Amino acid sequence: MKVVIIGAGIYGCHIASVLIEHGFDISIYEQKSSIFEMASGNNQFRLHLGFHYARDYNTRQQSKLGFEYFLCRYEKFTKSFVNNLYIIPKHDSLIDYKTYLAIFRHEDHLMEVREPSEFDFLKNTDGVVSVDERVILISELKQHFSVLLKDHINFNTTVTNELFEQFCLDFDYVIDCTWGKLLPSDEFFFEVTHLGYYRCLNKKYLNYGLTYVDGSLCSLYPTEIEDVFTLSSVSYTPLFKSEILDEANSFMEDITEEVLVQNSEKMEAQMQKYFPTFLENFKLESHQISMKSKIKGLNDPRDCRISKKGNVISVFSGKIDTLFIAEEFIINTVI
Ligand SMILES: Cc1cc2nc3c(=O)[nH]c(=O)nc-3n(C[C@H](O)[C@H](O)[C@H](O)COP(=O)(O)OP(=O)(O)OC[C@H]3O[C@@H](n4cnc5c(N)ncnc54)[C@H](O)[C@@H]3O)c2cc1C
Repeated sequence: MKVVIIGAGIYGCHIASVLIEHGFDISIYEQKSSIFEMASGNNQFRLHLGFHYARDYNTRQQSKLGFEYFLCRYEKFTKSFVNNLYIIPKHDSLIDYKTYLAIFRHEDHLMEVREPSEFDFLKNTDGVVSVDERVILISELKQHFSVLLKDHINFNTTVTNELFEQFCLDFDYVIDCTWGKLLPSDEFFFEVTHLGYYRCLNKKYLNYGLTYVDGSLCSLYPTEIEDVFTLSSVSYTPLFKSEILDEANSFMEDITEEVLVQNSEKMEAQMQKYFPTFLENFKLESHQISMKSKIKGLNDPRDCRISKKGNVISVFSGKIDTLFIAEEFIINTVI
């Protein structure tokens, strides 16, 4: 059976590798010159367990399950670290500490309750838990798929409407893994995002990740490089939103260094409210610009949505951990 996959982000690459194992004849079309050039190579690289999503039950459940599946297949492309802290700040959280604990205890999420006094460098803390979420080693995962799929990918080919129509005739199945870029829908919108890459200057903080929940708060999370972290903020990471892809692309192309520096300062100020010596211990090195596709919804849903129309399957991820939800739907459909 012949299947074409459009988009070589982590979804397109994972689904292609699974279908190849099942004996399908796979072709992949990617507009860029290598894989993981868009969101899959430019994000916070957190393998979620659901702790970021106190307000969305579906997202929590998908993350918990997806984490286990991800480790079964790709554990060597992840790393863990000791103080992976979720922190509920005083006053600024949408959910108080007791409610946060109750939600995750009720659903048997594994976490360790920690004493705020253990972390003397943190201020304005209502409660802290440590969790076993991991960091995705994105360069190694990219290398893995680049080798595995090298004979299947057609790079530098943007799939236009005409080419898409032709694919629908030529292939048994067409799988859209463009994260909503190819087939428009009024159910989602695009968000241009900004994270800062920070060098850690003090060994004391190398084994920490600080994630403030719940609401318009910030996170400092490790990357695959031991002393490099990303700083993000629910308030300031989104730079621009639009339902029109061309508008989001134009905004992205025109962003200036000045805008990014000013935005970094806002994220730093937010982090300093909780970690006053942040700038003495972390130094801004570079910026990451990326684009999220998001489902409209009040509770900030990040679950995976998959739909089928004729021989076209559309995959719309929320996060990386939901790869296996997509895989299950596709395998059940095409086999
Ligand atoms: C700032 C940020 C932080 C995030 N943090 C996390 C996190 O910590 N943990 C987590 O689990 N998730 C996170 N995410 C979400 C995660 O990055 C995405 O869910 C995931 O990468 C989506 O993968 P994808 O393969 O669906 O999309 P993409 O990686 O965007 O891949 C889509 C591919 O399709 C190609 N394409 C698009 N249109 C066409 C066309 N017409 N023809 C040919 N090719 C086309 C693109 O070039 C691209 O390579 C974050 C996202 C962002 C932006």
